[in-house]
Amino acid sequence: MAADLEAEVQAIDKSLLECSAEEIAVKWLQANDLRKEVYQHLAYYVPKIYCRGPNPVPQREDMLAQHVLLGPMEWYLCGEDSAFGFPKLEQANKPSHLCGRVFKVGEPTYSCRDCAVDPTCVLCMECFLGSIHREHRYRMTTSGGGGFCDCGDTEAWKEGPYCQKHELNTSETTEEEDPLVHLPEDMVARAYNIFAITFKYAVDILTWEKENELPGLEMSEKSDTYYCMLFNDEVHTYEQVIYTLQKAVNCTQKEAIGFATTVDRDGRRSVRYGDFQYCDQAKSVIVRNTSRQTKPLKVQVMHSSIVAHQSFGLKLLTWLGSVIGYSDGLRRILCQVGLQEGPDGENSSLVDKLMLYDSKLWKGARNVYHQLFMSSLLMDLKYKKLFAIRFARNYERLQSDFMKDDHDREFSIADLSIQIFTVPSLARMLITEENLMTTIIKTFMDHLRHRDIQGRFQFERYTALQAFKFRRVQSLILDLKYVLISKPTEWSDGLRHKFLEGFDAFLELLKCMQGMDPITRQVGQHIEMEPEWEAAFTLQMKLTLVISMMQDWCALDEKVLIEAYKKCLTVLMQCHSGFTDGEQPIVLSMCGHSVETIRYCVSQEKVSIHLPVSRLLAGLHVLLSKTEVAYKFPELLPLSELSPPMLIEHPLRCLVLCAQVHAGMWRRNGFSLVNQIYYYHNVKCRREMFDKDIVMLQTGVSMMDPNHFLMIMLSRFELYQIFSTPDYGKRFSTENTNKDVVQQNNTLIEEMLYLIIMIVGERFSLGIGQVNPTDEIKREIIHQLSIRPMAHSELVKALPEDENRETGMESVIEEVACFKKPGLTGRGLYELKPECARSFNLYFYHFSRAEQSKAEEAQRKLKRQNREDTALPPPALPPFCPLFASLVNLLQCDVMLCIMGTILQWAVEHNGYAWSESMLQRVLHLLGMALQEEKQHLENLSEENVVTFTFTQKISRPGEAPNNSPSILAMLETLQNAPHLEVHKDMIRWILKTFNTIKKLRESSSTSPVAETEGNIIEESSRDKDKAERKRKAEIARLRREKIMAQMSEMQRHFINENKELFQQTLEELDTSASGVHENSPVTSDAKLTALGPEQTRVAEHRQVVMCILCQEEQEVKVDSRAMVLAAFIQRSTVLSKNRNKITPDPG
Ligand SMILES: [Zn+2]
Ligand SMILES: [Zn+2]
Ligand SMILES: [Zn+2]
Repeated sequence: MAADLEAEVQAIDKSLLECSAEEIAVKWLQANDLRKEVYQHLAYYVPKIYCRGPNPVPQREDMLAQHVLLGPMEWYLCGEDSAFGFPKLEQANKPSHLCGRVFKVGEPTYSCRDCAVDPTCVLCMECFLGSIHREHRYRMTTSGGGGFCDCGDTEAWKEGPYCQKHELNTSETTEEEDPLVHLPEDMVARAYNIFAITFKYAVDILTWEKENELPGLEMSEKSDTYYCMLFNDEVHTYEQVIYTLQKAVNCTQKEAIGFATTVDRDGRRSVRYGDFQYCDQAKSVIVRNTSRQTKPLKVQVMHSSIVAHQSFGLKLLTWLGSVIGYSDGLRRILCQVGLQEGPDGENSSLVDKLMLYDSKLWKGARNVYHQLFMSSLLMDLKYKKLFAIRFARNYERLQSDFMKDDHDREFSIADLSIQIFTVPSLARMLITEENLMTTIIKTFMDHLRHRDIQGRFQFERYTALQAFKFRRVQSLILDLKYVLISKPTEWSDGLRHKFLEGFDAFLELLKCMQGMDPITRQVGQHIEMEPEWEAAFTLQMKLTLVISMMQDWCALDEKVLIEAYKKCLTVLMQCHSGFTDGEQPIVLSMCGHSVETIRYCVSQEKVSIHLPVSRLLAGLHVLLSKTEVAYKFPELLPLSELSPPMLIEHPLRCLVLCAQVHAGMWRRNGFSLVNQIYYYHNVKCRREMFDKDIVMLQTGVSMMDPNHFLMIMLSRFELYQIFSTPDYGKRFSTENTNKDVVQQNNTLIEEMLYLIIMIVGERFSLGIGQVNPTDEIKREIIHQLSIRPMAHSELVKALPEDENRETGMESVIEEVACFKKPGLTGRGLYELKPECARSFNLYFYHFSRAEQSKAEEAQRKLKRQNREDTALPPPALPPFCPLFASLVNLLQCDVMLCIMGTILQWAVEHNGYAWSESMLQRVLHLLGMALQEEKQHLENLSEENVVTFTFTQKISRPGEAPNNSPSILAMLETLQNAPHLEVHKDMIRWILKTFNTIKKLRESSSTSPVAETEGNIIEESSRDKDKAERKRKAEIARLRREKIMAQMSEMQRHFINENKELFQQTLEELDTSASGVHENSPVTSDAKLTALGPEQTRVAEHRQVVMCILCQEEQEVKVDSRAMVLAAFIQRSTVLSKNRNKITPDPG
């Protein structure tokens, strides 16, 4: 049998080997109908070469195909033996200056951080080593496969687009020159013919769906030979496939592994060869065996000649790819053939057909034709553009196919978007002419149809299929990023129009996110199930860069900015239409001011962290100031339509939510909320979340009476009554015996003061304060290094990256830090320059709580080392831009003075009230900020303007009747000597000193600087000494505590290791909050105690307060108090029994 087969094979080989390429080609050259001739040839020979047995024999197939099939084609193309023809072509070719090397998986790629237009522009190793970029800052990555080298693409590099090798070609060719002029005319004609026939043959056979017929090819001999073809999917595991195959086709495990590996790599593999029935039998077993879990494995019984032609079809595509490598002219002809529309009009070109069939093709076939596209269409400047248009027009369909396809994106034609959209000129053309921005966004929205009643995205209760689709649809955001990554230098009216249309679509998208995943505070019981939150945050996180880039685009053109601002405002008003519906407005009044607002409690009603529309408007508002549009064209802006209370409402609610979470009011809402708050502040999200909420409050406050703002704020913090009613604070603290409630309230007040500090103090973004472009990043670095010296990588991690994955750190780091070289072990660290410590702000808004306390400790330590007082006064701040200038009045308005006065009063009468030192510390910081502000105003006083900032005067005035409270100044003087405020004395002294400086500044009508009084230095230093001793002891105690806590948290960390990232913040918080407790654990002597009987020891009855293991809330254990979760272990015991021999029957 085996011998027979071999003989047969040899016989066939012989007849095949007798074929002469020249003879066949000459016949073709004389043919009237070339197509018919070629097809007949293929129909006869292909099945004789391919698919002769159960296993492919690639070497033999390749050899024969070259001799019998490709040889004649090459001869026909060249008009002579290709051994002479191809070298001639190559010689005559004026090669393109593009490298275009297609990367294999794992191949190294290089990108220049100084010159690449965006991080997707990469070089192959050879080009990189021959380029100027090897001397620049570069980034090396390994390719995931599929991209190509951008060497020679002038649009990809700001400088040095060519390596030495590709530079050589640039002088001779111009981009407009038609490469066809370098080819003889008759060859051009022959190339058209043979390319058209072979390309069409390959496309037809690959997209062929019938099982027993062939496209335009007669089956020479219809034998009964079939394959049982198994296709790859991403659903079934290797093990499942291997197990099933062993059962279905009776193979060994080793064979099955071989099959499975090939299926995974190439996308399909025949697992049985024989007559139809024999193959069909295997198919049913496989289907039956795999249909139980999910959808069954895809198996098809295919006639051997179809498989043979498909194998050759792929071979042809590879062949075309290599032939066009000899000549740019041939490449252009192939592009033309590929994009030529067929008789069926739109989408009938060969390229379209392949693209639209992509998701139905197996992996191996996709790879082959994607490579051909990359080496042909994407390498030809003229056809790249035409292909981009085809791609954009089919975009929606391609993406929908991709959603249904179960292969990863790298195997999908949709993945070519990165090659097309990142070319700036193409991206701009596609936006302007094909409305690409709108198409991408609408396609995205179409795939996220699950909405709530208000039309917002809803991710709760997603089915597995929806979740799968959601993961896939995220890649569209990436496409949007690619399209926007290079910003236009010039705007045409068309571009403006289409960008704004895209902006409209984008606003629709954000509108579906505004207010999504609303939460309500859980009281009484814990939530039973953690609600879904990750999907919404994933979306927000992926969109963050896109939102920032949208703003960057708007900033580039005044007309676009104005229109975008109007559109955004309109959508925001739509989102909030009816936010006052059915609510009776309430009136708040304090210190002679009153304001109307709505009744709303964050702790009782729905609140959402997702407010992208508000935040986008905040961003655009800053741009109005940054670009000076607000001052140049105020009449074009809808500024009069702005309702400040409406603007601030939702961002304020969100910030109050954070404060309440921090105060422990939302413990019963579980971990999902903790995580959301964490990401809201996280470096990956904060730029378009937390930061913009602060900006929105700044925007609102700059347009309204600061007294009104503060009253609304007090009301949202649910603190209005405390500050508006005289003596309410005292009643509150005496009436509320519940320690938790008092503590909660204190935290809320602290948080509110912190928020005010941020609103007035955060002015380092361009457009808000009068700063330089690098000031913002410098300040971030200064504050990170204030915590401790850091390594480069640590610092990068703490800073936000832009769309080019740059932080901007390198350009400024030298100004603010010194690099300390590593010792023998360890890493080099950046250390803050001493003069930068002056810019340190204890209430820097990007500090986490843990970072803040670490920074405070480090800075105080530094001051002690320098033998300075330990006050950490607020730094002098840059002035606001005009649009935000009125914000400073927040510090000196009546309600603010009342809040400060009230808290100082509590501190003075410290026994009567519930108050905290952090509260006082924040008030002192605010006082310091106001004094800095006034001092700066006075120092920069010019002839024409009058200083309207008169804080010093206001704090010198005592309160009016009926309160008759002392002035703020007087209270500060009292507090200076209060024994219970030792820690804050330096700061109070600093305030009083600054107050005097300002007074002198005011008194001296001249602007000459006033020498600061340095009278009592000696007295201070002696006081410092015993203070230092006390601090040292405290420090030792603290270190000991910390060591114990470290051990505990190490155990926790180990436990939570799996969700490391999510819990990171929580752990830090635990560290700091826990280090304060467990100081005095009660010591009880347990000698001579009687448990039961008349002699029972009377134990002093003390309240037993236990911590709930679920919500970590303390509660007293009483019969009538609320239920809580306790863990207990119960065991039968004989400890108190008299008769230990008695056996108690088991009740169970
Ligand atoms: Zn290259
Ligand atoms: Zn190159
Ligand atoms: Zn460079």
